[in-house]
Amino acid sequence: MKRRPFHTVLFVLVAASAIVVATSLPAAAGADVSAVRYWTAPDHTRIVVDLTGEASYSTSVLTDPDRVVVLVVGGGIGAAQVVTPVGDGLVDRVRLNELQSGTQVVVDLSTASAHTVFPLKPYLTKPNRIVIDIFHEEQPGVAPPARPEAAGEITPRVIIIDPGHGGEDPGTLGNGVLVEKDIVLDISKRLAALLKSRGGYDVRLTRDGDYFVRLAKRKQIANASGGDVFISIHANSAPSKRADGTEVFYVSPRGASDQAARELADRENAADLVGGVSPDANGDVLSILVDLKMSDNVQKSSDLAGLVEDEVGRDRLGDCVIKQAGFLVLKSLAMPSILVEVGFLTNSSDVNKLKRASYRQSYAECLAAAIDHYFDRYAPVVAQDGGMHKVAPGETLWSIARRYDITIDDLRAMNGLDPRATIRVDQVLAVTRS
Ligand SMILES: [Zn+2]
Repeated sequence: MKRRPFHTVLFVLVAASAIVVATSLPAAAGADVSAVRYWTAPDHTRIVVDLTGEASYSTSVLTDPDRVVVLVVGGGIGAAQVVTPVGDGLVDRVRLNELQSGTQVVVDLSTASAHTVFPLKPYLTKPNRIVIDIFHEEQPGVAPPARPEAAGEITPRVIIIDPGHGGEDPGTLGNGVLVEKDIVLDISKRLAALLKSRGGYDVRLTRDGDYFVRLAKRKQIANASGGDVFISIHANSAPSKRADGTEVFYVSPRGASDQAARELADRENAADLVGGVSPDANGDVLSILVDLKMSDNVQKSSDLAGLVEDEVGRDRLGDCVIKQAGFLVLKSLAMPSILVEVGFLTNSSDVNKLKRASYRQSYAECLAAAIDHYFDRYAPVVAQDGGMHKVAPGETLWSIARRYDITIDDLRAMNGLDPRATIRVDQVLAVTRS
């Protein structure tokens, strides 16, 4: 379809609607719309419009009913579905209209909502795209509730679990059987459930569904939650199909431990390019200088990585290697942090293992055990007056005593347990230091 002069398009739209924002991309012939996708996040709905090439577009907002309309100048509907039902409470559906001037992408809103529209350049397998974000009025998840400090209660350890990728950004596709974003979300949820069931942990996920969260937001969630530990979960890929097993990374001021680690960090750091971050988004968060607490955190991160290595080895979940690299998501965190690549999606043996729910559960149990041991080592929970502990599966008098920095004899004395007494799951023990 032939492209009309842009000002003509604008004039028509201004006459017809309340607000029009025109965005000029580099002059190009019109492009077809080849696909429409959407992702529902807690605070927004993202609509991604695939184009067959570069195109100019203009945005207008219409009321009664509320709509955001993006006109892709020139070109037609192409292979895209004409109507995409959404119905997530924010967006009813997305419709395409072929006009003489181009293709109209009409986002039918459930209620008037704030929006942003921005273009994305092609990246890897992704074509030119236009991203339309529709926001809920309130943006949950940014300011979490303060950590409970009530007298007589044990302050829980805040664990931030960060499932990589999501939404528009699938992560690695490996040999095409498994998708990284799905596998890492599943293991993350299993890990969160395990930690929650133990008690003493306050667990936060940086995403809990299939939507994209930019790297800066992940760090913002972690730092605002006052996290004690940050674990980012990913899956690996390599040119060699033989590469397999777990790799655990932590950030070190010394930089990447080898070229492969550097390249992996570059790939993971590109998530924002794939998932879509507006060019005017607050990108400077990514270049914050390394935190002053970093040196202490490096040692603790390295120790946590070692504990994961121990657990993975003990459970015979395959090889585990510890490496260092400059992952953006780990930088400038105010807490010890590691990034776990749970296996290679380019290796058929790893893929076969990760396909099994029982394996993913075992893997989550390893990570949970490593976190337990980490707090045994570094941060015994000091019981306040009146502190009580509910026994979780796998716990022993020894592990509970260590956790609260008391002796087994004290623990027995406080609870009237004789030396031969055993404890059972869900039993409630006094853990106040006498
Ligand atoms: Zn990844």
